[in-house]
Amino acid sequence: MTATLSPGAWPALVLNADYRPLSYYPLSVWAWQDAIKAVFLDRVNIVEYYERQVSSATFQMRLPSVVSLKTFIRPSRQPAFTRFNVFLRDRFTCQYCDSREDLTFDHVIPRSRGGQTTWENVVAACSPCNLRKGSQMPEAAHMLPRQKPYQPNVFDLHQNGRHFPPNYLHDSWMDYLYWDTELDP
Ligand SMILES: [Zn+2]
Repeated sequence: MTATLSPGAWPALVLNADYRPLSYYPLSVWAWQDAIKAVFLDRVNIVEYYERQVSSATFQMRLPSVVSLKTFIRPSRQPAFTRFNVFLRDRFTCQYCDSREDLTFDHVIPRSRGGQTTWENVVAACSPCNLRKGSQMPEAAHMLPRQKPYQPNVFDLHQNGRHFPPNYLHDSWMDYLYWDTELDP
């Protein structure tokens, strides 16, 4: 599920047995090799195909672009704590000045003062703000994040994700995803 989202990898979107993506953040995709393995192990149904074919001495098949699990897996409610998801929660906006350029991560309570790397203490910050704040406490720097950092749920990220679709989405995936495709990535 850590396959690259480059089109050259012919990634397959992985749906749960209820035809919803197995996970949104990160989006559940498999490399084509894993998708085909799962087909042969009878763990998935093929929902959609790419035009692209692969063949060997014994078989020939079109690569699946969407597969669905045969057995329902209870989805996790808590999105993974990842860099992308922190940016998504903060809408790819510096939490000190609203800039969208040159984004980095800032520990609100600096690590040198015992601040943890958690949802509640990490925010998106542009590089100039990050430098300006340095290792000062937020009150001392007069820099409080616009929004108190929090642990988002899947719904929160989903709301924001509509505005920030991932870089690569195959046409055949669109029916299974919610975000608005008319918005430019
Ligand atoms: Zn800033």
